[in-house]
Amino acid sequence: MPYRPETDAVHNSAIDPASGAIVPPIVLSTTFEYETTGREHDPDELIYTRYQNPNRAALEATLAKLESGALAHAVSSGSAAMLTIFQALRPGDHIVSGDDLYFGIRVQLKEFFAPWGLETSFVDMSDPRAVEAAMRPETRMVILESPTNPLIRLGDIRAVADIAHQYGAMLLVDNTVATPVAQNPLKLGADIVVMSLTKYLAGHHDVLGGVIIFAEDDEFADRIMRLVKIGGSVLSPMNSWLTLRGLQSLSYRVRAHSDSALEVACFLAEHPKIERVMYPHHPSHPQYDLALRQMRIGSGLMSILVKGGREAAIALVRKSKLFTSATSFGGTHSLIEHRESIEEDSSTPANLLRISIGLEHPADLIADLQQALG
Ligand code: PLP
Repeated sequence: MPYRPETDAVHNSAIDPASGAIVPPIVLSTTFEYETTGREHDPDELIYTRYQNPNRAALEATLAKLESGALAHAVSSGSAAMLTIFQALRPGDHIVSGDDLYFGIRVQLKEFFAPWGLETSFVDMSDPRAVEAAMRPETRMVILESPTNPLIRLGDIRAVADIAHQYGAMLLVDNTVATPVAQNPLKLGADIVVMSLTKYLAGHHDVLGGVIIFAEDDEFADRIMRLVKIGGSVLSPMNSWLTLRGLQSLSYRVRAHSDSALEVACFLAEHPKIERVMYPHHPSHPQYDLALRQMRIGSGLMSILVKGGREAAIALVRKSKLFTSATSFGGTHSLIEHRESIEEDSSTPANLLRISIGLEHPADLIADLQQALG
């Protein structure tokens, strides 16, 4: 009988046969003794840690299971995951991508891949008609980040998957913000899921990592496998081990992040100094119905627009005591950030603050925001 995700996440490694240890050892050896047969080796055989490593193998198996995928590759960052995907496409291919997505990915597409011949059309993914209008015969991939970072806009995964497939393209969903606790894009028709492990999956602000998960072990998945193993952008044994440990509590952490975030969103939405709160599971979100339909919970990321413009937003960051002024999201500590000043090629509103709700008590977080808003 298949186990539920919470159970699979805890039982993510075999008991160590040598010692009986429940917690797997970290295997730092870069090279492994293997039998010389003169025959070709399986790509996942333990030969050299760039090809495979026991900690990475356990992590990849767990992540594939959590997203109901056929296989996964754990790589050195979420950005490296996307870079590898783009390298697997070919000059002359076309991508349709959301116009609001993590800025680093947009920079990769514009600065590195456009001159190489991989063209991208950036469209509003909340409007399936805009996606359809951008499709071309040479479109190989549609990229959907949902919810987006930082505008917290959603795309209808099922509808966009249908459009992509109608035109013979793959749908890639960046599930970093939602996590598999909130939504499983492969079950909604996506072909590939990418996540930054740096955020909720590792969850403690101490790992940089990424993962690519495939619905099918097909030709494209094989090409990515070759790029990862021959190119060498693999996740280290230590970071694989830390992420596996983080995954054990993923469901419980994300539910707590989400419950607290909704409380904070409700407080901020009523505050006279806040123009707007962007949080999928707050009823004021323009795609609230889609959020309820597509996401089991809202996760811990939100953005707010502060009345009084850029200066008022920056003042709020400087006055908050419990929210650390820092980038990233998805960890134990609550973070707050003025996004326009950190992003390259940014069209983010100057009065927008992105807030990552950590695992502190929500009443303490609300009290801190109350004092910071004066
Ligand atoms: N995707 C999303 C939605 C992100 O927010 C980020 C980083 O913030 C990335 C991908 C890139 O991940 P990493 O920082 O691990 O390279």
